[in-house]
Amino acid sequence: MSSKGSPPTKGLLIIGGTDVKRALSMSDCIDAVDRAMRALSSGGADVPLRTVMKLPGGRNFFGVMPGYLSEPQGLGTKIITIFPDNAKLGLSSHVGLVLLFDSEIGFPLAVMDAGEVTAIRTAAASAVATRALARPDASHLAIVGTGEQAITHLEAVAQVRTLRTVRVWGRSPDKALSFAREHGPRLGLKIETASTVEEAVRSADIICTVTASREPILNGAWLQKGAHVNLVGASQLTSREADDEVVTVSRFFVDSRVSARAEAGELRHAMDAGLVSESHVLGEIGEVLGGKVVGRTSHHDITVYKSLGVAAQDMAAARVIYDCAVRDGIGTSVPFYGH
Ligand code: NDP
Repeated sequence: MSSKGSPPTKGLLIIGGTDVKRALSMSDCIDAVDRAMRALSSGGADVPLRTVMKLPGGRNFFGVMPGYLSEPQGLGTKIITIFPDNAKLGLSSHVGLVLLFDSEIGFPLAVMDAGEVTAIRTAAASAVATRALARPDASHLAIVGTGEQAITHLEAVAQVRTLRTVRVWGRSPDKALSFAREHGPRLGLKIETASTVEEAVRSADIICTVTASREPILNGAWLQKGAHVNLVGASQLTSREADDEVVTVSRFFVDSRVSARAEAGELRHAMDAGLVSESHVLGEIGEVLGGKVVGRTSHHDITVYKSLGVAAQDMAAARVIYDCAVRDGIGTSVPFYGH
């Protein structure tokens, strides 16, 4: 391990997906992402806007997300591909590498499976937002989508609120049923399937949209007063999972203002329609956590957390994984340095 200021003595640590899951519990990740989001909103992180290349054909993407984080300490980058059709082959749609560097001497410390990091840290970020913005008594969860993020969001939200009911909707009813049958018993939750998104969300206190849909699937008219929504699936200006009404009726928060300006399709659409201005973004979640911005003001507010994903979250997760891996002997160390 690299102690601060001394070269890594064990070479470069390779941490595959199974080991990432061993080293990064959801609760540890929620804590780390909570600190990262506070740091991001108070000058403790440097997160340039990610570079995303659209690959030939227009469906697939290659993204590079560098970041520096002071607390928990992290320096590095995520390199990730997004191939949505991989799911049809039974493969993950988000795959790649997280590279963690020592921020004092600049040495690369570890290479990790970015798919698992992304699945866990994104849900952890939604849990942080849910803990901050959902009503304290929120207990009815709707998950819209049945992929990898749906699984981790179920696990994450269950950590921050006591769930009485869970409804899942997927465009494939079979996948929704499999999701309910597999993950309900595993987590001790009763999961019902819904045949429409409206049915899933009508009585929900917490809604997570985690689909690759480019067109709105969530309508503001379906939201009950007091609901909290995590909009997670769309991450380009031209894509949105929610209609304008979801934006206009809500107290609207983001992970990063810079990212929201450049990548939040729901916000951009509502702005282009003349319904809101940029000031509709009340704050970053880190500002809410730090007490600089008020989150929920009443039991009846509808709150939205627009998640785009920032490298600060990856660095926070990577630091937890690395520290655990070094402590518990997880991963494979390969000779890398000439000393
Ligand atoms: P998966 O490929 O595992 O799952 C995608 C899900 O979206 C599936 O349930 C799929 O249904 C569904 N879906 C795809 N197209 C549509 C559509 N047109 N209408 C309704 N449902 C649709 O992906 P993940 O779970 O890993 O990611 C989900 C979304 O979240 C992606 O868009 C991804 O880019 C985004 N994401 C956001 C992050 C953030 O930080 N905000 C981080 C990581 C991912 P089916 O199985 O039937 O195809």
